[in-house]
Amino acid sequence: SVFAAGALGALSEVWGELAQAAGAAERLTELLAAEAEIRSPANPTPLPVPARGALAFENVSFAYPASPDRTVLHELSFTVQPGETIAIVGPSGAGKSTLFALLQRFYDVNHGAIFMDGTDLREADLQALRARMSIVPQDVTIFASSVRDNIAFGRPRASEAEIRAAAQAAQAEEFILKLERGYDTQVGERGVTLSGGQRQRLAIARTILRNAPVLLLDEATSALDAASEMLVQDALSGLMQTRTTLVIAHRLATVLQADRILVMDEGRIVEEGDHRSLVAKGGLYAELAHLQFKAGILEPVS
Ligand code: ATP
Repeated sequence: SVFAAGALGALSEVWGELAQAAGAAERLTELLAAEAEIRSPANPTPLPVPARGALAFENVSFAYPASPDRTVLHELSFTVQPGETIAIVGPSGAGKSTLFALLQRFYDVNHGAIFMDGTDLREADLQALRARMSIVPQDVTIFASSVRDNIAFGRPRASEAEIRAAAQAAQAEEFILKLERGYDTQVGERGVTLSGGQRQRLAIARTILRNAPVLLLDEATSALDAASEMLVQDALSGLMQTRTTLVIAHRLATVLQADRILVMDEGRIVEEGDHRSLVAKGGLYAELAHLQFKAGILEPVS
């Protein structure tokens, strides 16, 4: 994934979660900006209020600054309506994570433009832009702190009631209350070790608390046990219902729920449609779906 590519990538991954945290986030933003030469404009165009969560890629071509001769996205165009759920699938290296990196403006496009609620990303204030997005990464970061702090990380000034409401909506409160010290339990390094599903639900609670209109979800490939899986799915469905969602999808349940599936290959959108029509088409999606059912990541459909 794009997030694994070097130190800058590692910083990008945590950025979403740090976005609202005071000093640390500012320093991180500066660091990211300096490295990728991304700057907030001097006279930004204010993003429309209230946020709608509409996205558009218009003829976007992109090569990473480190390898300018290798175009990884080729004249990509698509729009996402407010509230829509788009599943992105495609083989490794297709450019799925790159879409997410560009949406958060970790890099600027080489050609074309990306719009958030009609505003070119390059014209928006960087912090305001990123505050409109919440990221749930594949590998959730748990900080060495209390459960409460881990949830509130996206919004340090959240009230106790808001934190608890987020945990409940994320199907996390039940396990939290079973921990020895509940919300005060220390987790992460030298604290209680949480299971994969518990970590994911904490990340979902964090995201709910941030309440951004656009959700970028990099679905975990590692399988959870069936019970955890259902809890995570329920938590995510609730979150996705009220937000524009782009999800790099690895699970059948996700592609079935999506309003639209974009199939990417070698930096292009090669197919688009719903699960049924794409399977019927017998192209790349059908092939990928077949492979993934076999691998047990997606369950077989009848
Ligand atoms: P995966 O499913 O394996 O995560 P992906 O579809 O998300 O793949 P990307 O991570 O977007 O694909 O990668 C698209 C292309 O860009 C790949 O060829 C990759 O090697 C390249 N790439 C990704 N990150 C960087 C980077 N930081 N610098 C240079 N090239 C990169």
